[in-house]
Amino acid sequence: MDRKDASEISHFSDYLKPAQVIHDLKSKDKVQAIEELLDVLSKQKLIANKKVLLTRLIDRENLLSTALGDGIAVPHARVDTGGDMAIAAGRSAAGLDFEAGDKKKVHLIILIIWNPSLPGLFNHLFAGLANFLRKPEFRERIFKAADKNDLYAALSEIELRLPQEDKIVSRAGLLKKLQEIEMKKRKAAKAQAKTLSGQAALIREELDEALLVRFDKLIERYGFAVAEVDEGVCQGCYISVSTEMSSAIEGSNDIYVCENCGKYLVAAKRKKK
Ligand SMILES: [Zn+2]
Repeated sequence: MDRKDASEISHFSDYLKPAQVIHDLKSKDKVQAIEELLDVLSKQKLIANKKVLLTRLIDRENLLSTALGDGIAVPHARVDTGGDMAIAAGRSAAGLDFEAGDKKKVHLIILIIWNPSLPGLFNHLFAGLANFLRKPEFRERIFKAADKNDLYAALSEIELRLPQEDKIVSRAGLLKKLQEIEMKKRKAAKAQAKTLSGQAALIREELDEALLVRFDKLIERYGFAVAEVDEGVCQGCYISVSTEMSSAIEGSNDIYVCENCGKYLVAAKRKKK
Protein backbone atom coordinates (compact mmCIF):
# COMPACT_ATOMS: atom_id res chain seq x y z
CA MET A 1 0.00 0.00 0.00
CA ASP A 2 1.34 3.39 -0.87
CA ARG A 3 -1.00 5.25 1.42
CA LYS A 4 -0.31 5.53 5.11
CA ASP A 5 -2.29 2.95 7.04
CA ALA A 6 -4.35 4.52 9.83
CA SER A 7 -3.40 1.77 12.27
CA GLU A 8 0.27 2.77 12.07
CA ILE A 9 -0.45 6.17 13.56
CA SER A 10 0.08 6.37 17.25
CA HIS A 11 0.52 9.91 18.48
CA PHE A 12 -1.09 13.28 18.01
CA SER A 13 2.37 14.83 17.80
CA ASP A 14 2.86 13.10 14.43
CA TYR A 15 0.57 15.83 13.14
CA LEU A 16 1.09 18.65 15.57
CA LYS A 17 4.38 20.54 15.61
CA PRO A 18 5.17 23.27 18.18
CA ALA A 19 4.67 25.97 15.52
CA GLN A 20 1.03 24.85 15.19
CA VAL A 21 0.22 25.59 18.82
CA ILE A 22 -0.95 28.92 20.24
CA HIS A 23 -0.55 29.26 24.00
CA ASP A 24 -3.03 32.09 24.37
CA LEU A 25 -5.36 33.03 21.52
CA LYS A 26 -5.88 36.76 21.03
CA SER A 27 -9.35 36.30 19.55
CA LYS A 28 -12.46 37.08 21.51
CA ASP A 29 -14.98 35.10 19.44
CA LYS A 30 -15.08 31.76 17.69
CA VAL A 31 -14.88 32.99 14.09
CA GLN A 32 -11.80 35.09 14.87
CA ALA A 33 -10.25 32.21 16.77
CA ILE A 34 -10.75 29.82 13.87
CA GLU A 35 -9.17 32.41 11.58
CA GLU A 36 -6.25 32.86 13.97
CA LEU A 37 -5.59 29.13 13.85
CA LEU A 38 -5.92 29.03 10.06
CA ASP A 39 -3.27 31.76 9.89
CA VAL A 40 -0.91 29.45 11.74
CA LEU A 41 -1.53 26.70 9.18
CA SER A 42 -1.07 29.18 6.33
CA LYS A 43 2.26 30.30 7.71
CA GLN A 44 3.38 26.69 8.00
CA LYS A 45 2.27 26.17 4.38
CA LEU A 46 -0.03 23.35 5.46
CA ILE A 47 -3.05 24.93 3.76
CA ALA A 48 -3.42 27.05 0.64
CA ASN A 49 -6.90 28.54 0.50
CA LYS A 50 -7.67 30.10 3.83
CA LYS A 51 -10.87 31.82 2.73
CA VAL A 52 -12.50 28.66 1.41
CA LEU A 53 -11.54 26.78 4.54
CA LEU A 54 -12.88 29.48 6.84
CA THR A 55 -16.25 29.38 5.07
CA ARG A 56 -16.37 25.59 5.25
CA LEU A 57 -15.48 25.56 8.93
CA ILE A 58 -18.07 28.20 9.83
CA ASP A 59 -20.80 26.47 7.78
CA ARG A 60 -20.11 23.27 9.65
CA GLU A 61 -19.98 25.08 12.99
CA ASN A 62 -23.35 26.73 12.34
CA LEU A 63 -24.92 23.38 11.50
CA LEU A 64 -23.95 21.80 14.81
CA SER A 65 -21.46 23.13 17.31
CA THR A 66 -18.20 21.18 17.38
CA ALA A 67 -17.81 21.85 21.09
CA LEU A 68 -17.34 18.53 22.88
CA GLY A 69 -18.26 19.98 26.26
CA ASP A 70 -15.99 20.61 29.23
CA GLY A 71 -14.26 23.53 27.50
CA ILE A 72 -13.10 21.81 24.31
CA ALA A 73 -14.05 22.47 20.68
CA VAL A 74 -12.88 20.67 17.55
CA PRO A 75 -13.80 22.72 14.46
CA HIS A 76 -13.08 20.69 11.34
CA ALA A 77 -13.44 20.42 7.58
CA ARG A 78 -12.77 17.73 5.04
CA VAL A 79 -10.84 19.41 2.28
CA ASP A 80 -7.93 18.23 0.18
CA THR A 81 -4.94 20.29 1.26
CA GLY A 82 -2.33 18.10 -0.40
CA GLY A 83 -1.26 16.38 2.81
CA ASP A 84 -3.03 13.89 5.10
CA MET A 85 -4.12 16.28 7.76
CA ALA A 86 -3.46 19.82 8.98
CA ILE A 87 -3.95 20.52 12.67
CA ALA A 88 -3.59 23.60 14.85
CA ALA A 89 -4.35 23.93 18.55
CA GLY A 90 -5.07 27.07 20.52
CA ARG A 91 -5.74 27.70 24.16
CA SER A 92 -7.89 30.57 25.37
CA ALA A 93 -7.42 31.58 29.00
CA ALA A 94 -10.49 33.83 28.92
CA GLY A 95 -12.62 31.25 27.12
CA LEU A 96 -14.74 31.55 23.97
CA ASP A 97 -18.41 31.01 23.30
CA PHE A 98 -18.91 28.01 20.98
CA GLU A 99 -22.56 27.42 21.82
CA ALA A 100 -21.54 24.26 23.62
CA GLY A 101 -24.26 21.88 24.78
CA ASP A 102 -23.11 22.27 28.37
CA LYS A 103 -22.96 26.09 27.97
CA LYS A 104 -19.34 26.09 29.16
CA LYS A 105 -16.83 28.44 27.55
CA VAL A 106 -14.22 26.82 25.35
CA HIS A 107 -10.60 26.96 26.53
CA LEU A 108 -9.04 24.62 24.00
CA ILE A 109 -9.67 24.62 20.25
CA ILE A 110 -8.25 21.89 18.08
CA LEU A 111 -8.71 22.75 14.42
CA ILE A 112 -8.55 19.85 12.00
CA ILE A 113 -8.46 19.89 8.20
CA TRP A 114 -8.30 16.41 6.76
CA ASN A 115 -7.96 14.88 3.35
CA PRO A 116 -11.14 13.38 1.81
CA SER A 117 -9.17 10.33 0.69
CA LEU A 118 -8.57 9.38 4.33
CA PRO A 119 -12.00 9.27 5.99
CA GLY A 120 -10.96 6.75 8.66
CA LEU A 121 -8.13 8.91 9.85
CA PHE A 122 -10.43 11.58 11.22
CA ASN A 123 -12.49 9.14 13.30
CA HIS A 124 -9.28 7.64 14.56
CA LEU A 125 -8.03 11.02 15.67
CA PHE A 126 -11.39 12.10 17.00
CA ALA A 127 -11.73 8.99 19.16
CA GLY A 128 -8.24 9.51 20.55
CA LEU A 129 -8.92 13.14 21.35
CA ALA A 130 -12.25 12.47 23.00
CA ASN A 131 -10.74 9.69 25.09
CA PHE A 132 -7.86 11.80 26.25
CA LEU A 133 -9.77 14.99 26.88
CA ARG A 134 -12.43 13.19 28.87
CA LYS A 135 -9.94 12.94 31.73
CA PRO A 136 -10.27 16.01 33.99
CA GLU A 137 -6.59 15.97 34.97
CA PHE A 138 -5.50 16.31 31.32
CA ARG A 139 -7.93 19.12 30.66
CA GLU A 140 -6.67 20.89 33.74
CA ARG A 141 -3.05 20.57 32.55
CA ILE A 142 -3.94 22.04 29.18
CA PHE A 143 -6.14 24.86 30.45
CA LYS A 144 -3.52 25.88 33.02
CA ALA A 145 -0.45 25.37 30.83
CA ALA A 146 2.11 27.99 31.89
CA ASP A 147 3.63 28.45 28.44
CA LYS A 148 3.74 27.06 24.94
CA ASN A 149 6.18 24.25 25.83
CA ASP A 150 3.93 23.13 28.63
CA LEU A 151 0.90 23.11 26.37
CA TYR A 152 2.70 21.27 23.59
CA ALA A 153 4.02 18.65 25.98
CA ALA A 154 0.52 17.90 27.26
CA LEU A 155 -0.99 17.74 23.77
CA SER A 156 1.81 15.46 22.57
CA GLU A 157 0.69 12.78 25.00
CA ILE A 158 -2.57 12.22 23.14
CA GLU A 159 -2.67 8.77 21.59
CA LEU A 160 -4.64 8.02 18.50
CA ARG A 161 -6.71 4.89 18.59
CA LEU A 162 -9.54 3.22 16.78
CA PRO A 163 -12.94 3.43 18.40
CA GLN A 164 -14.45 0.15 19.58
CA GLU A 165 -16.72 -1.42 17.03
CA ASP A 166 -19.85 -1.32 19.12
CA LYS A 167 -19.27 2.21 20.23
CA ILE A 168 -18.52 5.26 18.15
CA VAL A 169 -17.06 7.96 20.32
CA SER A 170 -18.69 11.36 20.63
CA ARG A 171 -20.71 11.21 17.41
CA ALA A 172 -24.22 10.63 18.71
CA GLY A 173 -25.24 14.27 18.31
CA LEU A 174 -24.06 14.21 14.72
CA LEU A 175 -25.99 11.07 13.83
CA LYS A 176 -29.13 12.43 15.47
CA LYS A 177 -28.76 15.66 13.51
CA LEU A 178 -28.39 13.69 10.28
CA GLN A 179 -31.62 11.84 11.01
CA GLU A 180 -33.42 15.13 11.69
CA ILE A 181 -32.24 16.50 8.35
CA GLU A 182 -33.14 13.34 6.42
CA MET A 183 -36.64 13.35 7.91
CA LYS A 184 -37.16 17.03 7.13
CA LYS A 185 -35.93 16.44 3.59
CA ARG A 186 -38.70 13.96 2.86
CA LYS A 187 -41.38 16.57 3.52
CA ALA A 188 -39.52 19.57 2.12
CA ALA A 189 -40.23 21.55 -1.04
CA LYS A 190 -37.62 21.36 -3.81
CA ALA A 191 -35.65 24.48 -2.93
CA GLN A 192 -35.44 23.62 0.75
CA ALA A 193 -34.59 19.99 0.00
CA LYS A 194 -31.49 21.17 -1.82
CA THR A 195 -30.27 23.11 1.20
CA LEU A 196 -31.00 20.12 3.42
CA SER A 197 -29.08 17.80 1.06
CA GLY A 198 -26.08 20.08 1.35
CA GLN A 199 -26.27 19.96 5.13
CA ALA A 200 -26.64 16.19 5.12
CA ALA A 201 -23.60 15.85 2.86
CA LEU A 202 -21.55 17.96 5.24
CA ILE A 203 -22.39 15.62 8.12
CA ARG A 204 -22.05 12.44 6.10
CA GLU A 205 -18.47 13.13 5.16
CA GLU A 206 -17.55 13.05 8.84
CA LEU A 207 -19.04 9.68 9.61
CA ASP A 208 -17.62 6.25 8.90
CA GLU A 209 -18.80 4.52 5.75
CA ALA A 210 -19.93 1.40 7.64
CA LEU A 211 -21.97 3.48 10.05
CA LEU A 212 -23.69 5.32 7.19
CA VAL A 213 -24.49 2.13 5.28
CA ARG A 214 -26.25 0.78 8.37
CA PHE A 215 -27.91 4.14 8.97
CA ASP A 216 -29.38 4.22 5.43
CA LYS A 217 -30.54 0.60 5.65
CA LEU A 218 -32.35 1.31 8.92
CA ILE A 219 -33.97 4.46 7.51
CA GLU A 220 -35.13 2.52 4.46
CA ARG A 221 -36.59 -0.27 6.52
CA TYR A 222 -38.06 1.57 9.49
CA GLY A 223 -38.15 5.23 8.54
CA PHE A 224 -35.65 6.04 11.24
CA ALA A 225 -32.25 4.79 12.41
CA VAL A 226 -31.53 6.52 15.69
CA ALA A 227 -33.58 5.75 18.78
CA GLU A 228 -33.41 7.38 22.17
CA VAL A 229 -32.98 5.43 25.35
CA ASP A 230 -35.46 6.75 27.85
CA GLU A 231 -35.48 5.37 31.41
CA GLY A 232 -33.49 2.38 30.20
CA VAL A 233 -35.90 1.54 27.37
CA CYS A 234 -35.04 1.68 23.65
CA GLN A 235 -37.65 3.95 22.03
CA GLY A 236 -37.21 2.06 18.77
CA CYS A 237 -38.49 -1.31 20.00
CA TYR A 238 -39.68 -0.53 23.55
CA ILE A 239 -37.48 -3.22 25.03
CA SER A 240 -35.15 -2.53 27.96
CA VAL A 241 -31.46 -2.31 27.18
CA SER A 242 -28.95 -3.72 29.65
CA THR A 243 -28.47 -1.64 32.78
CA GLU A 244 -24.79 -1.42 31.99
CA MET A 245 -25.39 0.02 28.53
CA SER A 246 -28.16 2.26 29.74
CA SER A 247 -25.95 3.92 32.32
CA ALA A 248 -23.10 4.21 29.83
CA ILE A 249 -25.36 6.00 27.36
CA GLU A 250 -26.75 8.36 29.99
CA GLY A 251 -25.29 11.83 29.53
CA SER A 252 -22.83 10.55 26.92
CA ASN A 253 -22.37 11.52 23.28
CA ASP A 254 -21.27 8.04 22.25
CA ILE A 255 -23.28 5.85 19.90
CA TYR A 256 -24.37 2.34 20.87
CA VAL A 257 -26.40 -0.25 19.02
CA CYS A 258 -29.63 -1.75 20.41
CA GLU A 259 -29.07 -5.49 20.88
CA ASN A 260 -32.72 -6.13 20.14
CA CYS A 261 -33.70 -3.95 17.16
CA GLY A 262 -30.28 -2.92 15.90
CA LYS A 263 -30.98 0.80 15.87
CA TYR A 264 -28.41 3.31 16.95
CA LEU A 265 -29.01 4.36 20.51
CA VAL A 266 -28.51 7.81 21.93
CA ALA A 267 -29.37 9.25 25.30
CA ALA A 268 -32.77 10.90 25.56
CA LYS A 269 -32.56 14.64 26.00
CA ARG A 270 -32.96 15.52 29.63
CA LYS A 271 -36.34 17.09 30.13
CA LYS A 272 -36.05 20.64 31.35
CA LYS A 273 -38.17 21.50 34.30
ZN1 LIG B 1 -34.28 -1.34 20.22
